Amino acid sequence: LETTFSIIKPDAVSRNLTGQIISRFEAQGLKVVASKMLQLTQAQAEGFYAEHKGRDFYEPLVAYMISGPIVVQVLAGENAIALNRQIMGATNPEKADMGTIRKDFALNMRENSVHGSDSPASAAREISYFFSQTELC
Ligand code: ATP
Ligand code: MG
Repeated sequence: LETTFSIIKPDAVSRNLTGQIISRFEAQGLKVVASKMLQLTQAQAEGFYAEHKGRDFYEPLVAYMISGPIVVQVLAGENAIALNRQIMGATNPEKADMGTIRKDFALNMRENSVHGSDSPASAAREISYFFSQTELC
């Protein structure tokens, strides 16, 4: 079984979409094995998105990600990383497939409701960024 890291982003938490988003993960074969709500500090958000530092969207992305509470989760399942990205849909909601979270809920390319790890290495880094070993069920 593979694990992946998920964020329900501020635009979705603020619009009361947390439950609907978690329901989609559960209905499509991903199990929540760790979960908490928190508000990122500037430093935490900058560190999390360090790979994008210098891109034009980096600073507004960080400002948006600290603008309100988020839900961070570890999801487990067969091919969890690819499956989660399929359930999320494309980064740009206009290009996302029908029935995906981003197609149905995202506001725009930045406020796109969810994050999901893009590789096993990212998943390991991102899980350990937010969760200690004792928090994983
Ligand atoms: P995530 O990493 O959040 O799962 P992703 O892998 O689909 O999304 P990345 O390319 O890693 O997308 O970008 C990280 C996040 O930065 C995106 O989810 C989005 O919120 C924001 N972002 C990316 N590209 C743009 C852009 N061109 N304009 C505005 N925001 C962007
Ligand atoms: Mg990414």
